[in-house]
Amino acid sequence: MLQDQFSRRFSYLRLSLTESCNFRCSYCLPNGNECHTRSNELTLPEIKRLVTAFAMAGTRKIRLTGGEPSLRRDLCEIISICKEVPGIETVAMTTNGYRLKRDISSWLDAGLDALNVSVDSLDPATFELITGQDKLAEILEGIELATELGIKKLKLNTVLLRQHNSGALPDFMDFVKHRAVTLRFIELMQTGDNNAFFARQHLSGDQIKQQLLAAGWLQAVKDKDAGPAQEFYHSSHQGGIGLIMPYSKDFCADCNRLRVSSLGELYLCLFTEQHRSLRHLLQQDQPLKVQQFLQQSLQFKSSSHQLSEQKTGATRHLAMIGG
Ligand code: SAM
Ligand code: SF4
Repeated sequence: MLQDQFSRRFSYLRLSLTESCNFRCSYCLPNGNECHTRSNELTLPEIKRLVTAFAMAGTRKIRLTGGEPSLRRDLCEIISICKEVPGIETVAMTTNGYRLKRDISSWLDAGLDALNVSVDSLDPATFELITGQDKLAEILEGIELATELGIKKLKLNTVLLRQHNSGALPDFMDFVKHRAVTLRFIELMQTGDNNAFFARQHLSGDQIKQQLLAAGWLQAVKDKDAGPAQEFYHSSHQGGIGLIMPYSKDFCADCNRLRVSSLGELYLCLFTEQHRSLRHLLQQDQPLKVQQFLQQSLQFKSSSHQLSEQKTGATRHLAMIGG
């Protein structure tokens, strides 16, 4: 099992399939997609070798992300490849939901286990203001369809924005009342490109936590291998609400994930200067060499990000390596 010098073990890979995106989220790509890397994205054989090597090193869960992963025409093949690798137990994906209604059935057939859909507002006009797309109704229909088709795990991601959704907690609570979905508020993170926006819009998740507790929600005890989210539940609500608070103390203590970009760069953290290409090792079957590369690289992983000191590393926006 991959382990760093702080005894953290890494069983979760977040694999970005593309930097491209068709949304213009104001905190991520406000001017749309400016990257020119579509032609050089990891190929199917490279993805297979990468995932095989990670699985041999103890990875059990893969999350496909981006950019917008559903823009890849070969997405279903990628899902099946990941699912078929021995040792991989869960194939998950994070999407903006643009292609959800059209494609969920084929993603499930290909073996997708879990899905996170980004929904920053339940109000269509606010949703359009944040994402640049008038697609809320269609995305919500896609979410209903995913539930009907029996997706094993479904979560909604909502980036917490002072101006747009800080007062919307009651609407979100209503949304999860009769739906078996978990909605997670993600605190806005500063990146190289969003400094001014961050200064205007960042809101601590603690405020939401206090509102939840006051409304009778209880904090769940975390499993040993749980991610960084704090989860809350309420006896009269079928779904749950979670909080991801990257600025909170000890956020990185349980880090269990590594990231690979769509160009085959290994990122040890979302907010680091440290990234190394491993693509040259994916040109033939040599999983042991990939594992050695991973284990050596991991010795340089820092104990924590330095976001509180405004150090955002090489990350201009999260579409570069997936959130
Ligand atoms: N395009 C897909 C989507 O939006 O779901 C996947 C990639 S996106 C980078 C992954 C997640 O990161 C989304 O839930 C998005 O809202 C979140 N995200 C992007 N930029 C962020 C930021 N600066 N702070 C917090 N979350 C962010
Ligand atoms: Fe695209 Fe996702 Fe970034 Fe929004 S958050 S611009 S959907 S990559």
